[in-house]
Amino acid sequence: MLPVSTVVPHVLQSATAPGCFPTNRSVFFSHPATILTSIYVWRIVMIKSVKGTSDILLPEVLLWQYVERTMANTAKVYGYEEIRTPTIEMEELFSMSVGQSTDIVEKEMYAFPDKKGRHLVLRPEGTAATCRAYIEHQMNLQPSPAKFYYMGSFFRYEQPQSGRKREFHSFGVEALGEQSPVQDAEVIDMVMTMLSRLGLAHLSVDINSIGDDNCRPAYKEALRAALAAHEGELCEDCKRRMSDNPLRVLDCKREDPSLLESLPKSADYLCTDCEDHFHRLLSTLDALKIPYRLNHKLVRGLDYYTKTVFEVISEDLGAQNALLGGGRYDYLIRHLGGPATPAVGWGLGLERLTSVLTARYPEFTGSLAIPLAYIVHSETAMAVAFELRRTLAGAGWALDLDMRQDGFGKQLARASKRGARMALILGEDEIAAGTCAVKDLTSGSQLTVALADVAACLASAVQKQS
Ligand SMILES: [Zn+2]
Ligand SMILES: [Zn+2]
Repeated sequence: MLPVSTVVPHVLQSATAPGCFPTNRSVFFSHPATILTSIYVWRIVMIKSVKGTSDILLPEVLLWQYVERTMANTAKVYGYEEIRTPTIEMEELFSMSVGQSTDIVEKEMYAFPDKKGRHLVLRPEGTAATCRAYIEHQMNLQPSPAKFYYMGSFFRYEQPQSGRKREFHSFGVEALGEQSPVQDAEVIDMVMTMLSRLGLAHLSVDINSIGDDNCRPAYKEALRAALAAHEGELCEDCKRRMSDNPLRVLDCKREDPSLLESLPKSADYLCTDCEDHFHRLLSTLDALKIPYRLNHKLVRGLDYYTKTVFEVISEDLGAQNALLGGGRYDYLIRHLGGPATPAVGWGLGLERLTSVLTARYPEFTGSLAIPLAYIVHSETAMAVAFELRRTLAGAGWALDLDMRQDGFGKQLARASKRGARMALILGEDEIAAGTCAVKDLTSGSQLTVALADVAACLASAVQKQS
């Protein structure tokens, strides 16, 4: 069961006003004898969000905050620190890393020239930028491995369908500088902890090894030879991929599954080093009791992976059930001009995760932001009311403050409407005495306390209820 936070800070909801622009200046002439009249004709223009992007509103945003907080806290306790890289990067960072022949680089990048003609992109994924930052700031000189988590917006120009957004949100981790397969197991173990803290059960790992520069060329050759016999059956993209990156064919959703199943398996072509790495990883997962399944068709869509590739599956979610994917990318940092640095990581789409959690725990998103107490006050008590709010909010109490300062009855009605459990009442008498009336809005009971004692009063009310 997900913990449901009952008291969360008041969240301001801003209304989005439609844009109002003069679009057409028209001059109307009435009868020639009358005075010339000119008016602006205004047309209301409703500005909508960009295709493939969404607003994340209440109550869903509460779930997003909870998911991001839980994942970030778990990463922290596993020894991973946050890294924040820019939203825009140089275009070649991704063509060099993600791969020239991938869908992302070929079709999906938001690329544009800036005013000086530089080729920029809105970042399509997180790993390459983390590696760019690692190289740029010479993090190889710091204690190794360097462990990071990141979260934020990413951009791909895709057809927005089946939950895919053009601006989407990811959470990812990267461990840079460690080649041991135990490091691969750690990033997998961490995400299992994160997902089970979020209430997801029946998790397992789909895993494969796609080898390295020693053994992959022979595997690619074998794959090309096998594919050549079926060239006529392949989709247009795969016919093209067959020569430069035949592994991508295994990933293609348009191919016949039985054809893919019959193709040579990368695990049968591993060199001693890759085979040893893969076996040690699997025995570590066995020791950690993390269930896994060997999936020979799993290659991941990006060119930079070596050795380990994996996806985490929740068996509760039906056929298209991968929650996240990741793998090892031992050559990427060197390829981008840095020192040879083995690395492993994963990335997870937050749109998918939050929709899965919403479907499983609909009651979670029902917990709206409500203040614990609502300050009711007269106009002359305004400065004291703000001061009391500032002090209590500074101590973490969720409060709302009435803005209209009309009759106390009306203010108390608004307090109840907001769902507040208590009202803190500041009238003329209270101001003169340096006190505050604390009213329980459920029972109607009321007591008067010194202003300095209000926090203790709220604490005891919360304790009494819990
Ligand atoms: Zn294909
Ligand atoms: Zn190898």
